[in-house]
Amino acid sequence: MKAPTRTGAIESITTHYIDGAFVESHGREVMDIINPTRGEVIGRVTLGDEEDTRLAIAAATRAFATYGRSTTEERAKILRRLHDAASARVDELTAAMVEEYGGVVQFAGLIVQTGINAFSAAEQALPEIPWTRRWDKTTVTMEPVGVAGMITAWNANALFICLKLASAVAAGCTVVIKPSELSSLQTRVLIEALHEADLPPGLLNVVTGRGNVVGAELVRNPDVAKISFTGSVAVGETIMRDGAATMKRITLELGGKSPTILLDDAALDQAVPAALTMAFMNSGQACAAGTRLLVPKSRLDAVKQSIRDAMRSFAVGDPADPKTGVGPMVSQRQYERVQSYIRKGIEEGAEVLVGGEGHPEGVDAGYFVKPTVFVNVNNEMAIAREEIFGPVLSVIAYDSEDDAIRIANDSRYGLHAAVLGTDLQRARRVASQIRSGRVVINAMTDDPQAPWGGFKYSGVGREYGRYGIEAFLETRAILES
Ligand code: NAD
Repeated sequence: MKAPTRTGAIESITTHYIDGAFVESHGREVMDIINPTRGEVIGRVTLGDEEDTRLAIAAATRAFATYGRSTTEERAKILRRLHDAASARVDELTAAMVEEYGGVVQFAGLIVQTGINAFSAAEQALPEIPWTRRWDKTTVTMEPVGVAGMITAWNANALFICLKLASAVAAGCTVVIKPSELSSLQTRVLIEALHEADLPPGLLNVVTGRGNVVGAELVRNPDVAKISFTGSVAVGETIMRDGAATMKRITLELGGKSPTILLDDAALDQAVPAALTMAFMNSGQACAAGTRLLVPKSRLDAVKQSIRDAMRSFAVGDPADPKTGVGPMVSQRQYERVQSYIRKGIEEGAEVLVGGEGHPEGVDAGYFVKPTVFVNVNNEMAIAREEIFGPVLSVIAYDSEDDAIRIANDSRYGLHAAVLGTDLQRARRVASQIRSGRVVINAMTDDPQAPWGGFKYSGVGREYGRYGIEAFLETRAILES
């Protein structure tokens, strides 16, 4: 199926979603919305300011007085309504992601569906939480933390909004969301969909604006109890530091430089395509992208040949075409960032096996880069240490299983990892030594009840299922004499 495209006149978004209604922005700054496939302006968004943010926080605070005391049955019903409302608009949500972000349609559809599934996953996880425990004269209850501020990245905006909202609603929190300003169109489609869920006014509020304006107000405002953030390490550090002034509870979902360990018993016809899929998913603009491929020295030549062969399946082009494997970068800035890392890799002495600098042949418009694989990389090079956030894979050779584990863990990140091999016991043994929040064996896979989050600089706290809900809860004990 080719994705339905959103066509027509330039769209103008001038409202935020506050207290159950779309209200005109108080902030006056207008930003262009650019289609990265063609590099064309397709819309304009009026960005919110501190006043819009404070109105949204006030609405969430009022709503919390009631919603914070809701029963789990009431929350389950709301989660079901959110699920149904979002499900009704899957095609439109996917099309908006393709149009505004350049997400490859197959992956964009998956991202949207994963977001929608988060509502049913949170509903399923409700009974897992020990809401009330009693012993002797003591009663312990799990209480919603309060108004939650949510700040999202652009690379899977709908998924982040749904995930965070689902967990917060399950916990009994009301929310103010500041989506990425690069995702205004997608946010609009999603919020119009969620509006149909007939939520209590003030439960969900959304203010699109700049991070250092709307985001900073959420972080500093004393009426916001919790910040759940998905984005870069640099901004995560700012949020943690600034949030300390009002003792914010903080969840940070940050970057990665995820290792894929190809064991020496791996079947290359399966392992190499799986490794490349993990490297280039979402056009490499994925926090979990497996951008370091660790290969036994003894199999390096065979792996290089397999990579050359398998790269044919990663066609660059129109993200709306289901045959496309890699779409454009989200912005000119992101295009330049990827180019600068490809240059840096060459300067550092790595060898380009596939790809390289510049636009792919025959593709002049838009922010397309060549999916690039470097070999002769060592783990000290910038292309092995820093998050590039584009389709650039570094192949690093290792001597032994212990050496592979050491290299995998020699990173400031620890979000995601993969182990590829035919001996499952051995793959599990290796997986259990990787210091990452998630390790997949033999392919990229997901489980909406399994925790998601990072060790080290990849973040603080977890999302998904009961782990995500717990991040929005406080524990209260009542003791009778
Ligand atoms: P970013 O940090 O630049 O921006 C993220 C959000 O923070 C945006 O909404 C932005 O407006 C806001 N922001 C910026 N400055 C702020 C401030 N001072 N105060 C409050 N908010 C502020 O990140 P990005 O470029 O949008 O996203 C890419 C990054 O996100 C990558 O590092 C990627 O790895 C990470 N990411 C992590 C996960 C995960 O689950 N761990 C998922 C996706 C993306």
